[in-house]
Amino acid sequence: MTVPVSLMWFRNDLRVKDNPALNAACDEGKIIPVFIYDSAAPDDHKPGGASQWWLHQSLQSLNERLNGHLQIFKGAAQELIPHLLEQFGVERIFWNRCYEPWPIERDKKLKKQLKENDIKVKSFNASLLWEPGNIKNQSGDPYKVFTPYYKKGCLNQPEPRYPKAPPARITYAEVEDKGDGLESLQLLPSINWYAGIEEEWRPGEEGAADRLSEFLSEPANHYQEERDIPSVEGTSKLSAHLHWGEISPNQIWYAIKGKFGDQENKDIETFLSELGWREFSYYMLYHFPHIVDENFKEKFNHFNWRYSKKELNAWQQGKTGIPIVDAGMRQLWQSGWMHNRVRMIVGSFLVKNLLMHWSQGEQWFWDCLVDADLASNTAGWQWVAGSGADASPYFRVFNPVLQGERFDKEGDYVRTFCPELKDIPKKYIHKPWDAPDDVLQKAGVALGDHYPEPLVDLKKSRQRALDAFDEIKGK
Ligand code: FAD
Repeated sequence: MTVPVSLMWFRNDLRVKDNPALNAACDEGKIIPVFIYDSAAPDDHKPGGASQWWLHQSLQSLNERLNGHLQIFKGAAQELIPHLLEQFGVERIFWNRCYEPWPIERDKKLKKQLKENDIKVKSFNASLLWEPGNIKNQSGDPYKVFTPYYKKGCLNQPEPRYPKAPPARITYAEVEDKGDGLESLQLLPSINWYAGIEEEWRPGEEGAADRLSEFLSEPANHYQEERDIPSVEGTSKLSAHLHWGEISPNQIWYAIKGKFGDQENKDIETFLSELGWREFSYYMLYHFPHIVDENFKEKFNHFNWRYSKKELNAWQQGKTGIPIVDAGMRQLWQSGWMHNRVRMIVGSFLVKNLLMHWSQGEQWFWDCLVDADLASNTAGWQWVAGSGADASPYFRVFNPVLQGERFDKEGDYVRTFCPELKDIPKKYIHKPWDAPDDVLQKAGVALGDHYPEPLVDLKKSRQRALDAFDEIKGK
């Protein structure tokens, strides 16, 4: 009897454990594991620079997990998949579902085409705790506000799926074509700007599991209190691992429950609700796919945004003269990641104090973040701008000095990423422009020379933002 052979198509699920499509494919017989870098993807779905670096490492790691059997291709998946099935003489294919607009469209067309050609196609949910199509409000419409979505919509559902053990055995079919190979994807840039990123991260399933263990060993116990302090390793740093599917939210959910049980615990509730925000971001993108490049709240279409290349460059390079903003932007550039509290601060500064369209920030983050994720990045920026469904109100303009004084009390975060300010005393670390001359002199800082003067006056630029918002208020 011949053993059936299946194509296992890896996408944003670069792991062996808790991978429902892989389990199902292995249950049927032998597999040919493939990854396709889809050259037909529109630009806003193609990974940015930092994500490309991550993907390179992650594919290398997955290939090792699969004993060198991963076949990597570059091309339009919609054409390549039927071609590969035919070339390998295979009549079944397994994949895990994606929830962004473009892959949904692609997969729908592909599935139809394959089924018409008598190919068995099986797809699974491997990346969300609750699939977006299953959660509706009492009227049968999608929720638009996080709390009822999460509390009434999600938490009232049966518990999320329990993670699967890895396949007991993976048997690979022998094939002649070894694919184009990882190097053909050219994901690594010719200039090594990623040394800081390389130092900080270990992409791949093992790196993800280690991050989770580290988080559970200590920071999880203080999450509620410390998750807002950027100088402390108080969060899980799992976002990039989650984006590429090196770990599933189910594995995290049940690891947390396994350690803390069902006892009332503010730290754990808060952490799980952050996973809930990730779900909500996917949910919104699924039901309202236009939000990738359009305001959810249409009145923002009339907003009078400014654009200044000079100011945008200063923001991108961490040279605005506002220490907490600069520290955040430099953390992003150096490590490919930025603390969530600081993402909100730098976002508010760009959109409100500089009055620039949120898409400018969204694009820069897309290129620089190792965790760049269409759903969460879109949701994050629309939240910051006030144009999103359940967003921070536009009139709430973060004051970066007060935010710094509250969440970076000692100025440690600023001193780490803006070392030129390291000798500025705590009192002035978040507003060096207020420091008397002798204090600046003693700290060896000449504003406008060693460190920039503030790009804008915070009070005036706040008022300018509120005035601009007044113009669209009634629309
Ligand atoms: P933890 O605090 O440990 O949280 C655990 C997990 O929950 C995270 O890994 C993430 O998957 C999820 N999560 C936490 N906060 C949020 C949130 N506010 N929205 C959605 N999911 C969340 N997150 C991304 O993964 N990719 C992005 O491209 C992205 N862009 C953002 C842009 C802006 C302007 C803002 C304000 C937020 C953005 N976020 C994004 C959300 C959040 O900042 C990151 O998920 C978080 O900082 C990742 O760090 P962590 O893994 O240590 O988070």
